[in-house]
Amino acid sequence: MKQCTHAHALPHPEPEPLSETCLECLAAGSHPVQLRLCLICGDVGCCDSSPLRHATEHFKKTGHPIMRTFEPGENWRWCFVDHVLV
Ligand SMILES: [Zn+2]
Ligand SMILES: [Zn+2]
Ligand SMILES: [Zn+2]
Repeated sequence: MKQCTHAHALPHPEPEPLSETCLECLAAGSHPVQLRLCLICGDVGCCDSSPLRHATEHFKKTGHPIMRTFEPGENWRWCFVDHVLV
C-alpha cells in the first residue's frame, strides 16, 4: 500500500467550508449526489458519482491533494495524488 505524503501538510484546524453545497453545480443547474470538502482551501465540490465531478475537477485545477467527505455521519479522507484513504 502506497503511503500518502500529503496528509501531514494539511492546515490545522481544517478550513471552514466555503459553501453548503457545490456552487458549480448550483450555477450549472446540476444536482450533486454527495459532497466533498477540500482540506486545503475549504472548497465544496461534488463526488465522482455526481454528473459533473467538481471535487475531482478542483484537484485538477488547483493541485489540492486531499478532500474529505462532507456527508453527515461519514468520516474519511481521500488523497487524489496517491489514490488512498488517509
Ligand atoms: Zn497523498
Ligand atoms: Zn458539482
Ligand atoms: Zn482546494
